[in-house]
Amino acid sequence: MAEANDKSNGFVVETEDLWRVYKVGPREVPALRGVSMAIDAGLFVAVKGRSGSGKTTLLNCIGGLDRPTSGVVRVFGRDLSGLNDEQLTRWRREQVGFVFQTFGLLPTLSAYENVELMLRIAGARRDERRERTMHCLGLVGLAQWANHRPYALSGGQQQRVAIARALANNPRLILADEPTGELDSTTARDILSLFRTIVNEQHVSFLMVSHDPLVDGYVDGILYLKDGQIGEAG
Ligand code: ADP
Ligand code: MG
Repeated sequence: MAEANDKSNGFVVETEDLWRVYKVGPREVPALRGVSMAIDAGLFVAVKGRSGSGKTTLLNCIGGLDRPTSGVVRVFGRDLSGLNDEQLTRWRREQVGFVFQTFGLLPTLSAYENVELMLRIAGARRDERRERTMHCLGLVGLAQWANHRPYALSGGQQQRVAIARALANNPRLILADEPTGELDSTTARDILSLFRTIVNEQHVSFLMVSHDPLVDGYVDGILYLKDGQIGEAG
């Protein structure tokens, strides 16, 4: 599916003059106003900024959950505007793992089943599913908890299941939206240090949006978003 206009420039994620304008009735809300940024492979990078600064919108455009109004998003050198909706969905499943603030686990499924579901959707064989699911639960330290449902797990454990799920399809990029937002500071540190380990050991790049001051000590770099534009700290 290579496109003539695809080029990676060595970056995992690259945006050029990205705009996302929401239409709210007759009003236009510009959530992103010309964001240009680039992230090198193998790094753990945070996008910080106040509530409403456009962080979630940016992450959704990079992860193919939303389409920008104008500008370019390139991930692993691929211009996402060149993919139709079906191609974008497949691309997202194969290439990107997502972690959300509220974990997003299915409550009737065990930890194991939540992770395995991703592999079912991807069409993995049964033995492969079992092996990969247990491997990913092991990576997040939850192999012993495989048969527990989300309600029987702490918030930190639920987020670990969500991280295992994000890793299931062996994505090259993981995107996390306020992953520590629902966690106390001790648990938040545990999760951030797990992210750090995953980036160091699993050959993935990791982009996290957050306004948690704790993240500074764990990441390789920080981008600041203010009113939909990349700006300076503070
Ligand atoms: P953050 O994640 O930094 O809190 P968001 O990307 O969620 O910021 O929002 C950026 C701006 O866009 C805010 O002004 C918000 O109200 C607006 N916004 C976000 N999503 C929508 C939407 N679906 N419809 C209309 N406006 C939206
Ligand atoms: Mg947000």
